[in-house]
Amino acid sequence: LLLVVGSVAIDTIELPDALERERLGGSATYAALAARLFHEDVALVGIVGDDFPSEFLRTLQESGIVLDGLTQSNIPSFRWHGRYQRNMNIRETVSVTPEILMGFQPELPDGLRDADVVLLANCAPQLQKCVLRQIRNPKLVLLDTMDIWIKNEREELFSLLENVDILLINDEEARLIYKDWSLLNVIERIVELGVGSVVVKKGAEGVLALFNDDCVSLPAFPLRSVYDPTGAGDVFAGVLAGCLASAETMDAEEMKKALALATVTASFCCESCGADRFAHIDLKDVNERLETFRRMVSF
Ligand code: AMP
Repeated sequence: LLLVVGSVAIDTIELPDALERERLGGSATYAALAARLFHEDVALVGIVGDDFPSEFLRTLQESGIVLDGLTQSNIPSFRWHGRYQRNMNIRETVSVTPEILMGFQPELPDGLRDADVVLLANCAPQLQKCVLRQIRNPKLVLLDTMDIWIKNEREELFSLLENVDILLINDEEARLIYKDWSLLNVIERIVELGVGSVVVKKGAEGVLALFNDDCVSLPAFPLRSVYDPTGAGDVFAGVLAGCLASAETMDAEEMKKALALATVTASFCCESCGADRFAHIDLKDVNERLETFRRMVSF
């Protein structure tokens, strides 16, 4: 069982030429939907309010994700309103309603406590810790985080890292932990904090990962147009977790394959807006794009 915890959200997104209101979002939503493409048995832990649209619940139910850990409460759902500049690498948060997540301390149903793989998708380190503590014997723990937690909850976040096998982070966030021009130096310093491996997502520039002593560097899949990159990082994390949960061994080759699939699947996420649309991507299209990617990067 692969367990994913994080936000389940209603997003409003201002794009350079469009406004997308009330789309299904959230780090756990994107990550669990992506993981489910590559692993049968995925469970989501999160919370939604009484304003959460029933069609979004239906999307989650129809995806085959186990929802025993999804709490329904009567406070408003987590809402995130983001705005992109024309350069899609720059995004700001216009507003957020985090209250529902602040008091959320889930008691996991017994069946979920036997998860072998845990993806602590982007959310407060307190929530990540609360969930991880309840898992009896996790074989692989992945953690994704973002700038606000590195800035505001540094100690809480760092105290989790020695129980984390793979830390996912983007390049700017990595440099908030250790400032150096060389990303490889930054990664090596982060490993010293106690995590097993580090995967640095560089957006349109691809990914750089250190796995044991193996360094993997892959470009992003080149796209003609990016409509909305929201959730691409969460999809990346979800695919990596899903592939590793399904892998028989965990060596550098498996990791490289998983990183390539994560790259290609995340590119689909950038072409449309909302997890409700991402939920309908076809594995056949992903595999075709993977072949194109393989031809691009192998020599
Ligand atoms: P990404 O583009 O991969 O960073 O993921 C964006 C998703 O994360 C959106 O769907 C948001 O709903 C969600 N999100 C944004 N801020 C937060 C936060 N502080 N905690 C949890 N989830 C968030």
